[in-house]
Amino acid sequence: MLEDEIKKNIDKCARCALCVQNCPVYKIKKDENNTARGLICKLSGYEKNILSDKEIKKDLKICLNCSKCKTNCPSKVNTSLIFSYKNAFLFPTKFSQRLLLALKILPIKLLYFFNIFKKSKKTNIKCNVFYFKGCIAKAQNKATFLDKLFYDPNFSCCGLPYFTGGDLKNYNKAKQKNLQLIKKAKTVIFDCASCKNAVSEYFELSETDKNKLVFFSEFFENKKLILKEKSKYKNKIITFHKPCHMSNFDFEQVEKLLKSMKNINYVRLNDVDSCCGFGGSYFLYHPIISAKIALKKAKTIKTSKADLILTACPSCTIGLRFNQLISFNFKKTLELRDFIENEINIV
Ligand code: SF4
Ligand code: SF4
Repeated sequence: MLEDEIKKNIDKCARCALCVQNCPVYKIKKDENNTARGLICKLSGYEKNILSDKEIKKDLKICLNCSKCKTNCPSKVNTSLIFSYKNAFLFPTKFSQRLLLALKILPIKLLYFFNIFKKSKKTNIKCNVFYFKGCIAKAQNKATFLDKLFYDPNFSCCGLPYFTGGDLKNYNKAKQKNLQLIKKAKTVIFDCASCKNAVSEYFELSETDKNKLVFFSEFFENKKLILKEKSKYKNKIITFHKPCHMSNFDFEQVEKLLKSMKNINYVRLNDVDSCCGFGGSYFLYHPIISAKIALKKAKTIKTSKADLILTACPSCTIGLRFNQLISFNFKKTLELRDFIENEINIV
């Protein structure tokens, strides 16, 4: 069934090339083999036994899995489903990749280890609106307004690091636990765009369950958010980096929220859709492409004159901090959730 769905999506591609210009890898490499259209053509050749797996490996591996092609595809081709599963099926994780994956997860494990000694400030209330707390927020073991408002049933990792690393065993394990919990929820609230995207791409998720997945900004639509009197960001320029995995709908909600905040000067970044270049473990596998994408982003941030950059994905937060470092442009970068927690009064 999964193979049929992948094939159906490969066949759906109209080869229109509307995905090409938005592909961050294409913007650097200028090679059509690395775009969604190029990859789909090659995979189609592989399905028909015209190309060997070796001939598609290099191009498939270079894909950032950013989903931009999926967001911009008029034919609604699920490119993430095609590329991620094909990658995992054709090139299962080798020992060296497992080691890289372990290294990538190590800082989170260490955070967990040091924070288990902290007294948990959890104030979970039992309700049917569940909070999907991402791995890094969990490892930090701190309670925010989201813990106070919603119930955290201890979801597993969204599975994205395993999926993109080709580790289907651990991906499926995490996915099964999360699918069970989603069934019990009325709504599931996310504060990380990449977690939300990874969960909404679970192949087995029903339409009803998919509609339960909500980014937290939507929940605050009718609330007043006022900057705290003593906030250091009063009348400062604030901008938001749109994570590649954030849907246009969620981004509109976030912008609405930021524009509604009193005493904040929100500016939209030029080329708001451009990637930060970090891509989870992508910077480990393809450091040169990753750094080139990062430098482009850093230039855009520099010209924005923003005092603070907000985002909604821990991977982007790390990526953006790295951008600041390599471009000697030291601007504060924060998660939107933490900014609201520390600087805003919700009325
Ligand atoms: S993936 Fe979508 S946007 Fe890209 S060529 Fe195919 S149909 Fe066009
Ligand atoms: S997922 Fe991103 S990097 Fe990969 S082909 Fe699509 S736009 Fe390009």
